[in-house]
Amino acid sequence: MHAALEGVLARCDVGARVATDPVELVRRHHDRRPRDLEGVEIVALIASSVAFGNVTALRAKLADALARLGPSPAQVADDAIEVRRRLSGWKHRVWIDDDLARMIIGARAVQRAHGTLGDRFAGDLAAHGDFREALASFVDAIRAAGGLDRVRRQSARHLLPDPRGASACKRLLLFLRWMVRGPDGADLGLWRDRVDRSRLLVPVDVHIHKLARNLALTERATASWATAEEITASLRRIDPRDPVRFDFALCHMGMAQRCPSRRDPVRCEGCGVKPACRHWAPRRAR
Ligand code: SF4
Repeated sequence: MHAALEGVLARCDVGARVATDPVELVRRHHDRRPRDLEGVEIVALIASSVAFGNVTALRAKLADALARLGPSPAQVADDAIEVRRRLSGWKHRVWIDDDLARMIIGARAVQRAHGTLGDRFAGDLAAHGDFREALASFVDAIRAAGGLDRVRRQSARHLLPDPRGASACKRLLLFLRWMVRGPDGADLGLWRDRVDRSRLLVPVDVHIHKLARNLALTERATASWATAEEITASLRRIDPRDPVRFDFALCHMGMAQRCPSRRDPVRCEGCGVKPACRHWAPRRAR
């Protein structure tokens, strides 16, 4: 298993995969304005929060939102009326301009109160100890400061889900992975001095869930918070200091492979985890 995962990581063309990933727009902002931590936090929060559905469509919607906000999103976010004006008419899947504006305004208010979002999350971890409670407190603060908690539409609150619920909170955990891990070709590592990467949980999307079941990292049938904990616990046995380091490469391999979750000689051809896949394990003689 360990060798198979290392092989997937070694063979991943990170540069090419990043070019198709929402994190590329976050990295672009950081490359242009490397000292603008508040700005890149806002961009990363937007990019991770809308990372739902077809990647081409979501990247287009994300690029549109970022273009509207301009090169200094944190400064724009200081002016709630201006944020709403710039985002007017924006829409992606179930989310509308007002949802996104509330999240951005809330995140900026948290930055003003705590210095950076990273400082706020590190403080939540110190105060609560428990990772899930800390993340819930972090989400509560942004929701309350921007008014997302006062919107009646369930979908609006889904933009920043409550980690206390059953959801795997894939997009929030992706945000944390980007900010805490690295820097490497994918993750930015801008919070590496604030948060220990060993605390991270794997962001479980459909690809990771499927691969994790085939690799016996979890038996759970649904992608829930408990599933994320179980997969991460399995990965921690391989790398206790950086359990989510395989996530980017695995997720992109899963997207490219379109795993059939059964023994399929055509579709499984070239799959990097085939040696460890339960569908390809040697069958016992009868
Ligand atoms: S070998 Fe096939 S079934 Fe197993 S994880 Fe890879 S693509 Fe999926």
